[in-house]
Amino acid sequence: MEGLKETLKEHNLRTTTCREDVLSAFINRKNALSHGDLEGALGEAYDRVTIYRTLKTFLEKGIIHKVLDDEGLRYALCSHNCSEQQHHHDHIHFKCSACGETNCLENLHIPVVQLPNGYQAENFNLLIQGVCPKCN
Ligand SMILES: [Zn+2]
Ligand SMILES: [Zn+2]
Ligand SMILES: [Zn+2]
Repeated sequence: MEGLKETLKEHNLRTTTCREDVLSAFINRKNALSHGDLEGALGEAYDRVTIYRTLKTFLEKGIIHKVLDDEGLRYALCSHNCSEQQHHHDHIHFKCSACGETNCLENLHIPVVQLPNGYQAENFNLLIQGVCPKCN
């Protein structure tokens, strides 16, 4: 697919078939994917460890970010301005109880929360559960 190699190159990553396939799975599906979703999408082509390493690399390079939902960890594409070790996200994630998909609501920001003294925030996660427009 066009653009995959360019995206990898932009993030200083050598192209491998696994990296291309994982990236295209995220681009095609659009919603957040779990490790299991990816294994399903990629079939028998790669083993768990290879997929795991690819996800870890993508996280470190700012290509995907973590999405915490009630079933565990998923991953979603970063929209823009993320780079190596520098993720900039404060958007809300929405989990649909009908189709089970979790999506980034990029334009909805997590409200500012005043933490008690002594607490220091490092990551913000906000998951809203409900019914998405497709299932409504
Ligand atoms: Zn990011
Ligand atoms: Zn839905
Ligand atoms: Zn997200």
